[in-house]
Amino acid sequence: MALIVQKYGGTSVANPDRIRNVARRVARYKAMGHQVVVVVSAMSGETNKLINLAKELMAEPDPRELDMIVSTGEQVTVGMTALALIELGIKAKSYTGAQVKILTDDAYTKARILNIDQVNLKADLDAGYVCVVAGFQGVDAQGNITTLGRGGSDTTGVALAAALGADECQIYTDVDGVYTTDPRLVPEARRLNSITFEEMLELASQGSKVLQIRSVEFAGKYKVKLRVLSSFEEEGDGTLITFEEEDNMEQPIISGIAFNRDEAKITVLGVPDKPGIAYQILGPIADANIDVDMIIQNTGADGATDFTFTVHKNEMNKALAILNDKVQAHIGAREISGDDKIAKVSVVGVGMRSHVGIASQMFRTLAEEGINIQMISTSEIKIAVVVDEKYLELAVRVLHKAFELEGK
Ligand code: ADP
Ligand code: ASP
Ligand code: MG
Repeated sequence: MALIVQKYGGTSVANPDRIRNVARRVARYKAMGHQVVVVVSAMSGETNKLINLAKELMAEPDPRELDMIVSTGEQVTVGMTALALIELGIKAKSYTGAQVKILTDDAYTKARILNIDQVNLKADLDAGYVCVVAGFQGVDAQGNITTLGRGGSDTTGVALAAALGADECQIYTDVDGVYTTDPRLVPEARRLNSITFEEMLELASQGSKVLQIRSVEFAGKYKVKLRVLSSFEEEGDGTLITFEEEDNMEQPIISGIAFNRDEAKITVLGVPDKPGIAYQILGPIADANIDVDMIIQNTGADGATDFTFTVHKNEMNKALAILNDKVQAHIGAREISGDDKIAKVSVVGVGMRSHVGIASQMFRTLAEEGINIQMISTSEIKIAVVVDEKYLELAVRVLHKAFELEGK
């Protein structure tokens, strides 16, 4: 007997038929003698609908109330999934995040999980129930409902698997595994049988939405056996996230290409070049809980420095307001501007460590298509570039081809 956590995304629970389908798979695992915890997302499109509903009353909705509203999407699907299971003669119980007690901090709309109380779930599992838990939501120490950021149900699944000491966490979605890049953009993309944890972390952090980055972080921290599978196919092993690079296997140099349309670029031009500038600019941004991704600072011959960084598109206006209202008076920049028509494209692979020339191959490939690179950032296993968003698809396609990632 194993304890298995199965997470189903929005398209997998998009309507009653699909929910019935989920229940049938869960029933098969129960019939094999396993204990099963099911985590579900809201029906596809529902979270967006709820956010838009809130925006009809307030352009930038109050975060506490927004979490109250969007968390209802998952409350519907847990109840529905439990009903479908009960109809199949399976003992099942639905739980909100608060009922489990998935304790988070109070950073509404992007809360972090601090602790999961497993007492109730364990007791129900031992009594033969399937526990159906709402993804994406938690509760803070004061009892307020919080949510974990878009795509957060993946994190609920993996965090529950870690807390319960599950034997495996299965992420069921609308593709049958992790591909060399998003198969919706590049139909020639190839499914990977396995991918190292490090690569998956990098792909997720660079924008591959197949797994939310925090879910991969949890899997790494607690060594959760994590697999991505299709909820629409009965067969198939999906993609296993592995923790050791198999040294008997030739590692591909590049495993995948990620892209991100959600970032915006902020440029602060002509700042006097002196110690403390980076801190003066980014300190107030961090204090406002705005995540910064890429950063570039460049000093010109005139002794003035230009400073560019990227933030989530949703936070560009907030960041610009902070710079104009609080920071500009101290730094005296010549110009502060924002650009949200950008995209980031990243090539990822642990094999890069032992190979030189990947960056030049990437830059050459983009140059041959006339794609201008606006920013570059590298790590041991990644090269990321920011380009005009209109070149995103072209850039991903030509890089996928140049690095020979197509299916055989
Ligand atoms: P769910 O609702 O099940 O959580 P998501 O839409 O969040 O599903 O994630 C699955 C989607 O991720 C796929 O439909 C695919 O378009 C996208 N995706 C992006 N990059 C990849 C990749 N490298 N491999 C597989 N899917 C990817
Ligand atoms: N329903 C939430 C979202 O759309 C969480 C999830 O699907 O993982 O972001
Ligand atoms: Mg998702």
